[in-house]
Amino acid sequence: MKPKIDIGRCKDLSRKRFGRLTVKKPLSKRDGKVFWLCRCRCGRLTVVNGANLTSGKTRSCGCLQIEVLDDIIQKTRKRQDRTDTQLRRLEQ
Ligand SMILES: [Zn+2]
Repeated sequence: MKPKIDIGRCKDLSRKRFGRLTVKKPLSKRDGKVFWLCRCRCGRLTVVNGANLTSGKTRSCGCLQIEVLDDIIQKTRKRQDRTDTQLRRLEQ
């Protein structure tokens, strides 16, 4: 199967995995940079600059960051709950 776009001297990242992303195919080329279509483990498709993949800068469609954020929010919430319980105890 011939790739639709000429990736030139850029590394062929097809079928390689970076974090949660599995590279599908080169999608476009701009200023010598190849943008790759990737499938994330969460099922979403995303387009990532090849340099960001190889450098480890991009490792998910963005869901990884969201999950990390959720984790922080949840921890904060738990702490808040504890404070509430302590306050309620003081009230009694
Ligand atoms: Zn994802």
